[in-house]
Amino acid sequence: MLSFIRKRLAWKLTFGYLLVCSAVLIVVAPLIVRLLGITLLPPVGTGLAVILVLLAGLIFSLRVTRPLRRITDAARKFSGGDFDARVRPRGEDEVAELARAFNQMADQLNEKIRQVETGRNQIQGILEGMIEGVVVIGPSEELLLINSAAREILSIEHPVKPGSLLCEVTRAPEIQDLIRAVSETGRPQLKELTVYAPVERILRAQAAPYAAESGPGVLLVMHEITDIKRLEQLRREFVANVSHELKTPLAAIRGSVETLLDGALQDPAHNRTFVKAIAEESVRLDRLVDDLLTLAQIESRQELVRHEPILIQTFLDQELQRYLAVAQRAQVTLEWSVNPTSLSFLADRRQLAQAIGNLTDNAIKYNHPEGTVRVQAFRQGTEICFRVDDSGIGIPEVDLPRIFERFYRVDKDRSRETGGTGLGLAIVKHVAESHGGSVQVISRPGSGSCFILRFPSAS
Ligand code: ADP
Repeated sequence: MLSFIRKRLAWKLTFGYLLVCSAVLIVVAPLIVRLLGITLLPPVGTGLAVILVLLAGLIFSLRVTRPLRRITDAARKFSGGDFDARVRPRGEDEVAELARAFNQMADQLNEKIRQVETGRNQIQGILEGMIEGVVVIGPSEELLLINSAAREILSIEHPVKPGSLLCEVTRAPEIQDLIRAVSETGRPQLKELTVYAPVERILRAQAAPYAAESGPGVLLVMHEITDIKRLEQLRREFVANVSHELKTPLAAIRGSVETLLDGALQDPAHNRTFVKAIAEESVRLDRLVDDLLTLAQIESRQELVRHEPILIQTFLDQELQRYLAVAQRAQVTLEWSVNPTSLSFLADRRQLAQAIGNLTDNAIKYNHPEGTVRVQAFRQGTEICFRVDDSGIGIPEVDLPRIFERFYRVDKDRSRETGGTGLGLAIVKHVAESHGGSVQVISRPGSGSCFILRFPSAS
């Protein structure tokens, strides 16, 4: 367009200039020729005059149109996306003024484009950084925007084409119902819902009407609360389990006390049995409360891991010495070894003692008379390992994945008989994890068990 205008302008200028020059030459040329006394043949004079006029017209036209061409080129570059395209104005005439106006307009446009881009990038950054899934839906249920959290929540792996329908990219009827409810009522809706495909997720979804350019749309914000719900469930289960665990010894104590009060106190043949039962159950209660506190402290990280250098041979000598009497009573041989004897590492002494103690205690408890328990410490690669082997009853395969859960017991009666709280292995697992390590079990019923605690040697 600009080039067309420039060409037309050039022609008009040249033509106008030619007319003026011709008029001037027709009047002035004969006078000059007469004044100078030159005699020229009329056709030669006329021809010279015409050539002079044409040359002057051409030069004049080029002087005017060249800057215009530069402006045209710059405008073309600018519209093609080169926002740095500018014209260098020469002189002070109207064309230079036009060039300056063009540059000014380009600067302003550039600034506006930059502002729009910055705003868009900011919004994009905020949306992508949000943990909430955000979906903007147009009047025909087409997707106008979806952030990566929403794609993750709705398990959308492939890129979403703009304008796709929500039902085309995800199969979540509850969400579609929610959006429809907003479209129909024009009111915001808040709902807790579950999406199932491909994994089950619990969401708190909030949908509100939104005025899109093409008509009323819906803005959907989703917050995944699967973990919160799972934790709530775990807490409920834990409270129920603890209540149950506390109730059992309390009921036994109460039963014994009532029997004593009902007359057994005066029965010298049996009163000691009831008092002994009360003593045993109160020890169990004490142990349960101790284990619960230990677990709570490790879990809430109130008890921060206090790393101190531990010479493992000395540590095991001190800690396992106290289990020798328990092992002797159970007719189990307890032995330990460290390879090399100078092995040492950094760990929380109290927590480590608790974990090794629980594993050793279990290895003795769930063993047979004449059985053995062997505790070994060694280095494996970058890890310090404690391995507790026993020749005991072993653990069925089906129970193996659950034995580190709180209050999980393979044989409830045996655990009760031996004064178990069902928390020993949960504590072991937490100690390992709070040190950045892990615990592993290998066991088969009748073939004994092997528990391996691994700690990073730098911990
Ligand atoms: P408990 O106080 O009942 O011993 P734990 O958390 O220490 O609780 O252990 C959970 C369950 O794992 C036990 O009840 C027992 O059934 C099983 N278990 C743990 N250690 C051993 C082992 N060395 N041999 C056989 N079974 C074991």
